[in-house]
Amino acid sequence: MAKILVTGGAGYIGSHIVNLLRSTEHEVVVYDDLSTGRRESVTFGRLVVGELEDIEKLEGLIQEERFDACFHFAGSIIVPESVENPLKYYNNNTQNTLDLINLCVENNINKFIFSSTAAVYGEPAGGVCTEETSTNPINPYGRTKLMTEWMLQDVAKAHKDFEYIALRYFNVAGASVDGRVGQCSPLSTHLIKLACEAALGKREELLIFGDDYETRDGTCIRDYIHTDDLARAHLDALDYLLGGGKSEVMNCGYGNGFTVKEVIDVVKRVSGVNFRVKVAPRRDGDPPVLMSKTEKISKKLRWKPKYNDLSVIVKTALDWEREL
Ligand code: UDP
Repeated sequence: MAKILVTGGAGYIGSHIVNLLRSTEHEVVVYDDLSTGRRESVTFGRLVVGELEDIEKLEGLIQEERFDACFHFAGSIIVPESVENPLKYYNNNTQNTLDLINLCVENNINKFIFSSTAAVYGEPAGGVCTEETSTNPINPYGRTKLMTEWMLQDVAKAHKDFEYIALRYFNVAGASVDGRVGQCSPLSTHLIKLACEAALGKREELLIFGDDYETRDGTCIRDYIHTDDLARAHLDALDYLLGGGKSEVMNCGYGNGFTVKEVIDVVKRVSGVNFRVKVAPRRDGDPPVLMSKTEKISKKLRWKPKYNDLSVIVKTALDWEREL
């Protein structure tokens, strides 16, 4: 049994990991400022409402609880916002994470699991990324995440007991199959969420951002991964570290690619609604193809995804959206 600190555990991704931790022996404390997360999304453990930058509060909690491990999800994730307000991102994602890592090192929290992103690859040639593909983020969001990876790498080298896993998420989508948690943020810009909203009449139409890319139907290709499989990868990462595993950076995706049009077709089929779709200009900074190679995570963590099926992802997203 381990005692785990989960920052950002009330948010979209964090809440899925906490929900899955219910089925384990581990003890959980969620630390979240509820700026984008919701109290009801914390289905397990104790919730402490606090800001990551409130170091004194966080330090008090850490000293009181004596955690074995930290899952770090708290952060800002909207790419266009990061371009307009980079300092918010360097502050929330880099500065606050530096302080958190510092607290972990000082207080003997030696297992750290970090939510990184495929955005660290930027616009990779060919679009299919192994962990060795060069990193070249093209926006502040991606840079702040990569900076954290570097900090972790250096800290793990210098502090022999400290080990971390950084999971580079591809396109996370859907909601938990048990229906308890899902994506709540009204600011989401994610394709599957917006398409589900269109199918349910919550928005008039869906825009396709560019249909003149060099792909099989002209629209961008992404590697969509179900939230529950992503959550499982975090638990596998924790088991790996608790079992003596060493620090690693790993892709977390299925290694499949779907175009925007293919996603729209699946949402239409699963929902039975032929919602309106319009082609719009390309969105800045969208790579034509972004897909993962998954050998490393499959081998090292023995991660076995269960929901590698776009219609399951879409069905859970639709079911969740209906209840929102
Ligand atoms: N996309 C789109 N219409 C939308 C939202 C997204 O055509 O309303 C496209 C977007 O340009 C990208 C893909 O869908 O090619 C996935 O975008 P999303 O924002 O879900 O994730 P990203 O890959 O940007 O992290």
